[in-house]
Amino acid sequence: TERKDKTFVWHPFTQMQDWAARPQKVIAAAKGIKLIDTEGKEFYDGVSSLWVNIHGHQHSKIDQAIIEQLGKVAHTTMLGLSNIPAVELAEQLVEVTPCGLNKVFYSDDGSTAVEVALKMAFQYWQHKGKMKKQKFISLQQAYHGDTVGTVSVGGIDLFHRVFKPLLFSTVQIPSPSCYHCQIHSESAICGLQCAAALEAVLAEHHEEIAAMVIEPMVQAAAGMLMSPPGYLAKIREITRKYDVLLIADEVATGFGRTGKMFACEHEGVEPDMMTLSKGITGGYMPLAATLTTDEIYQAFLGGYSEKKTFYHGHSYTGNPLACAAALANLAIFKEERVIEGLAPKIEAAAAKLKEMEALTHVGSVRQCGLIIGIELMQDKYCKIPYPWEAASGASVCCKAREYGLIIRPIGDVIICMPPLASTVEEIETMLEIIKRSIREITE
Ligand code: PMP
Repeated sequence: TERKDKTFVWHPFTQMQDWAARPQKVIAAAKGIKLIDTEGKEFYDGVSSLWVNIHGHQHSKIDQAIIEQLGKVAHTTMLGLSNIPAVELAEQLVEVTPCGLNKVFYSDDGSTAVEVALKMAFQYWQHKGKMKKQKFISLQQAYHGDTVGTVSVGGIDLFHRVFKPLLFSTVQIPSPSCYHCQIHSESAICGLQCAAALEAVLAEHHEEIAAMVIEPMVQAAAGMLMSPPGYLAKIREITRKYDVLLIADEVATGFGRTGKMFACEHEGVEPDMMTLSKGITGGYMPLAATLTTDEIYQAFLGGYSEKKTFYHGHSYTGNPLACAAALANLAIFKEERVIEGLAPKIEAAAAKLKEMEALTHVGSVRQCGLIIGIELMQDKYCKIPYPWEAASGASVCCKAREYGLIIRPIGDVIICMPPLASTVEEIETMLEIIKRSIREITE
């Protein structure tokens, strides 16, 4: 199978890094928080299969919900029709997300959920007669997906550079990250200068800006950059002041990942739009949703007016199997009190990270709930990174695989997002493997 994989499958980001070119593991099965390869070797799924399998694999309640739905209808279009799980799920999403979000637009993955939000925000202002509001603001290290629209609001040079001629221009402000801050100031005393950058831009250009799109609390693909306390609330305050919509991209942070159901809850922020995917089905099916306020929805009601209709609809929008899985996912959160059970796991991770912080080549450890980033440095005291060719992050992840843990590097940031269903002991074991791998590669 490995040979056929190499012959026929084009993997995302293949050959970007040394480590991707090494033999791919082919996964034959999965159970709980473990993945099992074709040779029967077991691995901890340390990235929840890219943030999605929050309750682990083969959860009986999700399995059952999908099987039951299969016996009814596997798919039907949402264009002019609806289906029971999609309706039920929309009602429940409105209930669990922050106040004010009360319309759900379905799509199929995180990128399209954000793409939908951008198009809606643009069109909303057109309908309101504010024709100049055509631009977006995002953060310099933003990642919101791989479609042309979402790459346009992204800022990670690696994903961005090659497509530059295709992209629309976006205003970007510095990413908030105390460890990388150019001012090298503590958030407690700097007065959130990173947020002040937004005020400076909007004071001058708010009439041209439709929306700001942001990953609340944690910029994931940027290497788990965590915003300082108060930043998100400040961004909400400023965007509101200047009549700029706030799109909270909770594709990665949603569904318990940060220790709360949604990252916006950490600072009591109510965005105008929220995008969800990844954990929405507990890792079983592709599904995404863009939630908006009634105010935004109302601006699209125009009877048969061509100008007002929101022209966007996917074939698999609101797929009943995916929605049934998502309903089971939400039921698990309630019945198994998932959020309430996270505190000891988060604390156990924090204790292990404290140990790791002391390692000679660990520059920074960052944690928000069960989102973990460990940044390697060649010289941690002078903050001198390893040269790119050293591929230190990739080497640590390869070493961890030898010890039975699947994790990923983002440059030299080792990232770990264990399933929320992991026990305290399993989290400690995973982090111990990371610690050992870092020591063996860097010391
Ligand atoms: N937004 C954020 C914050 C993400 O982390 C991601 C995926 N890593 C996306 C959007 C895109 O989601 P998808 O890969 O499902 O298209």
